[in-house]
Amino acid sequence: MAAALLATASVARAAPPARLAPRVRRIVLHVLGGPAYDRPERRFRFFDPPQTQARWKPRFGAHWIVWTDGSLWPRHVQAGAARSWTPAVDRPADEAEKRRVAAEAAPVYSHLHDGNSNSVGIELAHSGRAEDAFPAAQVRSLAWLLRTLLALSGGRVTMADVYGHKDLDRRPAYLRSTCERPGCPYFVDERGRALRRRVDPPESLFAALAREGLALPRARGDDTDLRRSEALAPGERPAVAWR
Ligand SMILES: [Zn+2]
Repeated sequence: MAAALLATASVARAAPPARLAPRVRRIVLHVLGGPAYDRPERRFRFFDPPQTQARWKPRFGAHWIVWTDGSLWPRHVQAGAARSWTPAVDRPADEAEKRRVAAEAAPVYSHLHDGNSNSVGIELAHSGRAEDAFPAAQVRSLAWLLRTLLALSGGRVTMADVYGHKDLDRRPAYLRSTCERPGCPYFVDERGRALRRRVDPPESLFAALAREGLALPRARGDDTDLRRSEALAPGERPAVAWR
């Protein structure tokens, strides 16, 4: 018995605690729906996680999709593991969950212009419209995931390091992915002002997180650019400008 206990203790000592990959400095929140300026039929729509992930290129995509029912859909699934899982959000992550989240956060995926190497991305399954509520189960799972990631970082990543996609990519909505620099054509609203490519997530997500006890600091939090996108008539493809 004593020998067995000693063996168990040595195994426990050998396994280091789960840690967030040192590269991760920021957490970026997205929603799947968006303005789709050039594809009005796709505007503010989203697909379910398997359909969404099937459309992503191999290195493209966020680390997790949080579905409307609160289930987490990691970008890549370990062999033998279920494609999605739902954490028990009323308690902190246990050691197995910490290891799972840390492993899922480690790879670099493409979800943020010029910022993938030091970030992880979380997609909320949501239309992207300012007035569409986020389901409570979805917000609670997101809050649980954020708390787990912050705890796994050992204090390196804080609430001030959690951003909305729109905070970090202020570029105009360029017409073509092959020409995205000053001088390239971009979509404009009816007054000739540049439409923003990234308007996600709606501020209501941050308000919902605050109600769950996670009041993230918002330096420039409003939906002005999103509401300009929402003002487009259904089916309307906005005008284009060059300068
Ligand atoms: Zn985004």
